[in-house]
Amino acid sequence: MLVEEKENTDVLARTQQVIQTALSKLGYDEAYNELLKEPLRLLTVRIPVKMDDGKVKVFTGYRAQHNDAVGPTKGGVRFHPDVTADEVKALSMWMSIKCGVTNLPYGGGKGGIACDPRTMSFGELERLSRGYVRAISQLVGPTKDIPAPDVFTNSQIMAWMMDEYSRIREFDSPGFITGKPIVLGGSIGRESSTALGVTIVLKEAAAVLGLPLEKARIIIQGFGNAGSYLAKFLHDAGASIVGVSDAVGALYDPNGLDIDSLLDRRDSFGTVTNLFPNRITNRELLVQECDILIPAAIENQITAENAHLIQAKLLVEAANGPTTHGATEILTRRGVMIVPDVLASAGGVVVSYFEWVQNNQGYYWTEDEVNERLNKILVDAFRNVYDTSRTKQADMRLSAYMVGIKRMAEAVRWRGWV
Ligand code: GLU
Repeated sequence: MLVEEKENTDVLARTQQVIQTALSKLGYDEAYNELLKEPLRLLTVRIPVKMDDGKVKVFTGYRAQHNDAVGPTKGGVRFHPDVTADEVKALSMWMSIKCGVTNLPYGGGKGGIACDPRTMSFGELERLSRGYVRAISQLVGPTKDIPAPDVFTNSQIMAWMMDEYSRIREFDSPGFITGKPIVLGGSIGRESSTALGVTIVLKEAAAVLGLPLEKARIIIQGFGNAGSYLAKFLHDAGASIVGVSDAVGALYDPNGLDIDSLLDRRDSFGTVTNLFPNRITNRELLVQECDILIPAAIENQITAENAHLIQAKLLVEAANGPTTHGATEILTRRGVMIVPDVLASAGGVVVSYFEWVQNNQGYYWTEDEVNERLNKILVDAFRNVYDTSRTKQADMRLSAYMVGIKRMAEAVRWRGWV
């Protein structure tokens, strides 16, 4: 609470501020900002779901489409109790930047439902997922807006959503959604792609800093899809994972944690620290000694309040929006390199794009093809953002926004929207 009094942690205002600065630094006049500072469309829906006890519960959901000048909009759907319209709007704008930085032919979109899937049965989740698709079906589609997984949604939920959409349209529509199970047209490598993408850009950043990955001490906040695969990839690459956390708490051991055993013992929502009485809090974990810190959980974890206590030399944002504006300034001033979320966590949407391409072609790639292409796109994106930060004297976040928004502004200009 104290943090909110001192600093604006509103993710939408923060995103609008960086987009405005990026556009003006690139020389675009205010009319571009006026168009791009908000999504073109935001649909709010109310979804009635028959719960297992026989009562009907009405959930609120959203789908935001930031801008479709470049191509159809793209982005995940999150199921979380804290989902709000403003958060979904900001997340759709971050997707635009991710797609711009990695040069995918999409604008940004995002969806969300305010609910707590941890307290819902399989049947309730299926009815909610299908109800959401029925409610948004007019606005989405394989050439309009393509959903995907996000916080607390997975390939099973994508399968139900794809099935519902195909029934409504009366033809099989695998390209409507990405992150599907492989047998329903999912791409090999999609499930681990966010973590693989983080690993690729982390290696590039560590090389720039002259920080050898072998033996590097790494803290990962979050043990969900991104965090758990990341722990595995980085552990396998020879790094020492000294800290991990979940929604319950965190574990820290300067000599390195037994990652394989933690992975074995985590539940399907990524919870494992509840099994250990010696756990610390998430806030305590972030300021422990390490070389590389990877927030892979939720927004606003590193703020003006704790940024000066962070001990890492490199901060790689696997989560969306973990660092506030004030914290970015403090860390940049202190010489901590930040690989921003819009670059670091873009691996997921890149492989989603591969999945959509494969669905459209009806021809499926091998794991090596997926990984090689992902590697090339992200290495190029990192270098582009890093070079921009040097030549334009901008921090890494602003540089990523400059790279990402430029293509959208150009598409808007060519279409004559401004
Ligand atoms: N939800 C993921 C993200 O925030 C993936 C989106 C997608 O694959 O479309 O980047």
